[in-house]
Parts: sequence; structure tokens; C-alpha cells
Amino acid sequence: MKVTILPALSDNYMYLISDENTKQAAIVDPVEPDTVLQAVKSEGVNLTKVLTTHHHWDHAGGNEELVKKSPNALQVFGGDKRIGALTNEVKNGDKFSIGDINVECLYTPCHTTGHICYYLTAPGQPPAVFTGDTLFIGGCGRFFEGTAEQMYSALVEKLGNLPDNTRVFCGHEYTLQNLKFARYVEKENQEILKKITWADERRKQGLPTVPSTIGEEKKFNPFMRVMMGAVQSHASCSDPISTMQSIRREKDNFRA
Ligand SMILES: [Zn+2]
Repeated sequence: MKVTILPALSDNYMYLISDENTKQAAIVDPVEPDTVLQAVKSEGVNLTKVLTTHHHWDHAGGNEELVKKSPNALQVFGGDKRIGALTNEVKNGDKFSIGDINVECLYTPCHTTGHICYYLTAPGQPPAVFTGDTLFIGGCGRFFEGTAEQMYSALVEKLGNLPDNTRVFCGHEYTLQNLKFARYVEKENQEILKKITWADERRKQGLPTVPSTIGEEKKFNPFMRVMMGAVQSHASCSDPISTMQSIRREKDNFRA
């Protein structure tokens, strides 16, 4: 399983996923179709699938143009009828494959009502999850169409139960802003400070901060840590759901 990171717009990421054995490939959130087609050519792979995380234009807005321009017929996967060029509407637990790579759809509504994360496994390799605007490195998406209960279910019950070595590929480069909020929530957490130093260095070199891993996120992402005493006490809450609600509201207005 090879993942090629393709930066797009001001801070979005598209991901070209290739199976080295069969040369089959899929693209996650192809908002800039020309960049995608160029990468497909230079990697020498056969693009047949589009994995859409959610309907927002900066993720799904390139689907129709890509379908038109692609030399191959494309299947467009997603969990929301508002997604352009959708051919395969998926729900939680649905499975398909990209060559020898297995894909499982995880339904994670909240940022939007139809948000899907894609969990990928291949024999002998660490898994990967493509989290769109649900889980970011050090943060999570805004609750545009959902509740704190739903984000808790997505981050803690679904994504949090994936193996710790699962690589996390998210929809935006928001890592430094997120970690500065994380530091504000948990001033004593050394994992946050270490990650800020690392991410700062990466960004200075013009490099992406993706991927992290699920195991790492559990150590520094406050939204995955709403069951921890330190995060609950910052929020003056005693349960994970109201802590989630409280720190999301605080983050919405936070300026690092
Ligand atoms: Zn979005």
C-alpha cells in the first residue's frame, strides 16, 4: 500500500492510494483533478476509484471534472447524496477493495451527516485511515451537522478502537493550530509539547505533518482524550460528552 500525499488549495490534502502488486489505485477527495491525473501518470497506476469523505466543496468539488477527464471509468464512493458524481453510496461496515488492499467504510456523522472515514488494510503492512474532516492531527472537525455524542462515537468508539499503529491521513494541514489549542487544554502534557516542536520543524521545511497514528492521537489530541481527568477538569465537566461539547465550543473561538 503506497500513499502519495497531494497538497491542494491552501491547506487541503488529497491522497493517491496505490496497490504495488496490481497497480490499482484510488484517490481520496480529489478537489484538484489535474494534479491527481498528473500523479496517476507519474506513478504509472490505474485509477479506478474515488473515495469521498464528505460533500463539502473542498473535498468533493473536483469529482465531476475528474470523472470527465479520467481515461478510465471511475467508481465514486461516499456516504451522502450531496456528493457530486456519486456512483456507490456506502454505509457503516461496507467493504470493497483496491487491488489487494481491503477498504472498510466507517460512518462518522457530525461534521456532516454523511461523513465517511475509510479504513485500509493490506497483508503485512500497517493499516491506514483516511479521516477527512472528522479527525485531524491534534484536533477534530467542527460540528456543522451533528452533536457531541456523535463526535464521541466517531473519535473514541470507532476511530479510537482501530489498532494503535493505524496511520492517520486527514483532510487538512491544521496540525500546529490544533496542537496550540491542545497545549492550552493540557499544559502539563509533554507529548503535546514534543509534537509541536516536531510539527513546527516539518512546516518550516515545507513538509506535511501527516500521517500521525491512532496511538499518537490518543496521547495528545484533546478530542480523543475527553475521558481523561486533565481534559475534563479543564472543561469543568465530569463526563466525556459534555467535555467534548465544551472544548469544541472553546476551540471554535480559540486564537493561538
Ligand atoms: Zn468539511
